Amino acid sequence: MKEGFSMIRILVNGASGRMGSEVVRALVNEKDLSLVAAVDPKQAGKDAGEVAGIAANGIKIVATLEEGFLSKPDVVVDFTTPKVIFENAKKVLNAKIHIVIGTTGLTEEQRKALSEISEKTGANALIAPNFSLGAVLLMKASAEISKYLPNAEIIELHHNNKLDAPSGTAKLTAEKMAQVRTLDMLEDKTSESLEGARGGKYKGIHIHSVRLPGFVAHQEVIFGGFGEVLTIRHDSMNRTSFMPGVMIACRKVASVHGVTYGLEKYL
Ligand code: NAP
Repeated sequence: MKEGFSMIRILVNGASGRMGSEVVRALVNEKDLSLVAAVDPKQAGKDAGEVAGIAANGIKIVATLEEGFLSKPDVVVDFTTPKVIFENAKKVLNAKIHIVIGTTGLTEEQRKALSEISEKTGANALIAPNFSLGAVLLMKASAEISKYLPNAEIIELHHNNKLDAPSGTAKLTAEKMAQVRTLDMLEDKTSESLEGARGGKYKGIHIHSVRLPGFVAHQEVIFGGFGEVLTIRHDSMNRTSFMPGVMIACRKVASVHGVTYGLEKYL
């Protein structure tokens, strides 16, 4: 373990997954962040470094969060699955530990429930559907553009192992656009002869989810105006693109009160 006066102690939940192991690798290079525990039920007993494809780091993966808490983490980073994230987050906040949540799938209701726990225990959370700085900027730009070009559709493209659809980023983008939209959207007159052909509708915006091998995480927002179309697109080429955002979140979560939704609020 790295030593230092203001070291932030990190537990990675889902440590042997694609994102969790990327976090384990990224932490090696951070002077003020130290991996103290790794949780992933099916890999329990193995060395977290070796599982992440780097040198052994002496951190044995454990099966439960409760075992991980024995290492006294300051912050839990969660990249598990939509099925377990709500229970995980409740456990972490109830243990008075801050949590950085990358796992998608939390509903608005669940986020509210987590806020209530956070108020009671004083532990904070950041829920970020997308840790990539480019994706955060795409959301910001989309909100700005939708003030002038309210008609828009979102296409999000991910690898075929992604468990949920649409992506949390697509929904958050639509939410941000809807919050600032003041001009009326023109309704299309289309009726579907194939169910789902127009995608899902969220906050008035059609979202189309593509799932194919080869993709990592990509999103396009297409704005239609009178005689003009504006498209903006973001591509995460690999999972290292998420790491600077995760590291910012680990450093900041202790000082931002309550449950925060979206990395942009930390920037
Ligand atoms: P993944 O490769 O399937 O990793 C998830 C890991 O969590 C697996 O190792 C899984 O183990 C483990 N796990 C399952 N249940 C657990 C539990 N109760 N406690 C601890 N670990 C548990 O998935 P991924 O691609 O890393 O993605 C993880 C999540 O992050 C997804 O929701 C994804 O959409 C999201 N994501 C977010 C961002 C962002 O920027 N916010 C970026 C990419 C992905 P088993 O496989 O053995 O069950």
